[in-house]
This record gives sequence, structure tokens and C-alpha cells, in this order.
Amino acid sequence: MESAILDLMRAELRGPVIGPHDPDYTEARKVYNAMIDKRPAALIECRDAGDVMAALAFIRDNGLELAVRGGGHSGPGLCLVDGGVTIDLAPMRWVHVDPDARTAQVGAGSRLGDLDHATHAFGLATPAGIVSMTGVGGLTLGGGHGYLTRKYGLTVDNLLAADVVLADGSYITASETEHPDLFWALRGGGGNFGVVTSFTYQLHPVDTVGVGITVWPVEKTRDVLAWYREYLPQAPEDVYGFFMLLTIPPGPPFPEELHGKKMCGIVWCHTGDLDGFEEDLTVVDEPGTPDFHFTAPMPYPILQSLFDELIPTGYQWYWRGDFFDRIPDPAMGVHLEYGEKLPTPLSLMHLYPVDAAAHRPGPDDTAWSYRDAVWSGVFAGIDPDPANAGAIKEWCVDYWRDIHPYSMGGSYVNFMGEGEGQERVRATYGDHYDRLAQVKRTYDPYNLFHANQNIDPAP
Ligand code: FAD
Repeated sequence: MESAILDLMRAELRGPVIGPHDPDYTEARKVYNAMIDKRPAALIECRDAGDVMAALAFIRDNGLELAVRGGGHSGPGLCLVDGGVTIDLAPMRWVHVDPDARTAQVGAGSRLGDLDHATHAFGLATPAGIVSMTGVGGLTLGGGHGYLTRKYGLTVDNLLAADVVLADGSYITASETEHPDLFWALRGGGGNFGVVTSFTYQLHPVDTVGVGITVWPVEKTRDVLAWYREYLPQAPEDVYGFFMLLTIPPGPPFPEELHGKKMCGIVWCHTGDLDGFEEDLTVVDEPGTPDFHFTAPMPYPILQSLFDELIPTGYQWYWRGDFFDRIPDPAMGVHLEYGEKLPTPLSLMHLYPVDAAAHRPGPDDTAWSYRDAVWSGVFAGIDPDPANAGAIKEWCVDYWRDIHPYSMGGSYVNFMGEGEGQERVRATYGDHYDRLAQVKRTYDPYNLFHANQNIDPAP
């Protein structure tokens, strides 16, 4: 991009505009996933909705390509486009809690840790993901699930309103009563419809929670899954447990003899009475005595950041996902096979519960397309060393290919990997694709917002 255009942009905006010749450029174009190496023409660090409006007008009027960045955590690096301009919301990192109304309004550059920290001070929380550096923006617009999902639903089920800058430059609030069609689409349709500048969430009383980590040898995967698939869906809503395949990390709370071993396990979050939670989790003996079973009460934000240190920014990632409503016997064999073949110590498979409270809204109440799913699965190859990028991607794609026949056909939109193609995007938005395309035509008829799992505006 010509430096004259950059200078023009700088004159109009309050936040800095970073181009390829600026010293901050290398740092500014880094995203969480180091496999992504895109070179945008500029990144605009927006301080407020006014900056977003000015940036958007500039990009649109000059026919430039646009991307929007929340926390920069998407697997395929959707917040950057080679040669395009990124509206970076990172400076908009603020949270206002209304403890009486039990709501929080959150700036779109905030991370989950910002939200949890601010709400925890009042003994409150809302459902979101399980790693504190993840951006609220992309997570919310895709749906959002985490430890509180069985008790209080998806993140989008707790979204009360969103302030949005639309493609035509107007600034509106979307809620059940204002622009309800847009509000419907924002709750699961990804970043297709505008730049959300703030999110308002319903909060719930959540303070210290009961945490558990249980692991068995990977060879026990079939037995554990056979028990878990029956136990979890009928467990009380206070009991959340995601199933995982993992290599035990070399540190506490795991005993040394387990370090480096491939295992299967469950991470628990118990939101009920703390006095009884350890007793409730003794069910873990049913598939066979685990090699390790750890329980402790923890302030909710501690649980939310438990895995942060294991997976800092800058590692290689390739992931794919699928929704599941059952785990048939042959699928258990696939999980065992790929658990035994985990390619690197950090690579993993997780099955996140999306049932219980997340089943209460009707199938068409929000754009979240798989209300009848019981698990949202993710297969993630992870490693610090770029030399292993090929191996982790191959394991992930092979695993996904073999497990996909047992899935519901589509993935959680935020677990889609790079290059999965438009057919897969349609499968992911499922029965809601056509309605989303109608909303897209109303709010973004020229597809300005296309750096996402893209929905074509209806003709
Ligand atoms: P970005 O890369 O900044 O954005 C992703 C997409 O959203 C882009 O298309 C972008 O344009 C769009 N977007 C972001 N903000 C806005 C906005 N304000 N307005 C318009 N469009 C916007 N997901 C879960 O639900 N639960 C989990 O527990 C969970 N755990 C995760 C753990 C890790 C380590 C990682 C890397 C991801 C995890 N995810 C989880 C997936 C996560 O939801 C996605 O990666 C999500 O895209 C992250 O959002 P972001 O804002 O950080 O990403």
C-alpha cells in the first residue's frame, strides 16, 4: 500500500496505524498460532467505536480488503489478510460490571481473563472458553462453550446486546428488541455481519468451584468412553466434565511417574455445593480406578487460566472439529488409535459437553446450528517447533477423516481449520445457512466482512 494512503489513515484515526515499514509491524502481525504468517498492508489499532467507524469508511471507500481482529486466537488466522487492512480491536480492552443487574458490558478487544477477573470481584461469571487469553469477540460470535455451559448455556445464550458498526458505517445496538434478525445471526454466525464494538452479557453467581482432573492410561480409552458417554449426559447440570486425550505434562499436579505418558482423562468443574463435590466425583472409579485423581476447590478465574502456561502464544497449531450426539463403539476405537499416536506432547483431543442448559433454547432461537449436539469435539496438533508443523497437521486431518463419519456432519465454527472449503462451512452453519445468508444480504450485501467462515449474501 502506498505510504500516502497510510498517512491519510493516520490523519483520520486516534489509534496508531501500523504499516510494513514501522518497527512495530513484526510484533503487530503476530497471532496466537505461529503457523500463520500473513503480511497485511496495515493494522489499525482502534481505540473506540469512532475509530472503528472511521477505519471502516476508509477501507470501504478505498476498495481495500478488510479483516477484524478480536483476540487473534482463531486457528486459521482469520483476523489477518495478506495485503489487506486489519481493524484491530485490542485497545478496546475494558469491562463494566453492573452487580445489581448482574450484567457486564465488555469492550471487543477484551480477553476471557479480563472478563473473568472483573466479574469475579462480585462473585459473578458468564460461560466462556477455558483459556484466559482467548478473545471474547471471535469466541462469542461463534457461540462459545466452556466449564459453565451445562449449568448456564453457551456464551451466546447469555448475550443480551451487542453494539455493532455495520458495513454501511452506521452504529447500532442489536438485541432481542432492536435489529432482532441481526441479533439472531450474531449468536453463532461468526464475524460475518459487522464489527461488534462491545458485548453485554448476563452474569450468574459463580465464585469458587470444585475442580477435578482424572486420568487413566490411554489403553483404557474404550472403557472410560463407554462409561463417560452414559454418565455425563444424565449427570446433574452442576457437573461438567470434558473428555481428553493427552500426554501428561512434566509438572504438578501430576506425579512424576506419569510425566510424558499418553493418557485419557476428564477435567471437571463442579458448580454445586463445595462440601459435597469430591463425593460426587468418586464416580470416576466406575470405569476402573484412575492412575491419578486430583480434586481442589478453586476460584473460578484460576480454573479458567489453568492451562495458559502450557500453551503460550507462538506455538504451531492445526485443529479441526466436529459435533457429536453419541459415541458409538467403533468411534471409541478411532479415539484409542489416535490417542496412542498423539504426534507431540501438547497435541490433544477434547470432547466439550454442549448439553444440559445449552439444550434449553429452541433449535432456531439463535444461529448456533447444532442445539441437539452433546459434544463439541476438537482435534488439535500443537508443537513449539515449526519443523513439526507437517506432522501435527497430518495427524489432525487423518484423525478428523476417520472420526467424521460418526459426527453430526458439521463443526463448531470456531474449531474449523484452515482450508476446509465452502462445503464444510455450509455443513457447519447447517440448517441455518439460508437464514444467515438472508441476514447477510440485509447487513453486508457486498460481503465486506469476508475474512471469516464466510456466508455468501443471499441473491
Ligand atoms: P480472532 O482471530 O481475533 O477472530 C476470529 C474471527 O472472529 C475472525 O473472523 C474475526 O474477524 C472475528 N471477530 C473477532 N472479534 C470480532 C468483532 N468484535 N466483531 C466482528 N468480528 C470479530 N472456543 C470456545 O468456545 N471454547 C473454548 O474453550 C475454546 N478454547 C480455546 C483455546 C485456545 C487455546 C484457542 C486458541 C481457541 C479456543 N477456542 C475456544 C476457540 C476460539 O473461540 C476461537 O479461536 C475464536 O476465534 C477466538 O476469538 P478471537 O477474537 O481471539 O479470534
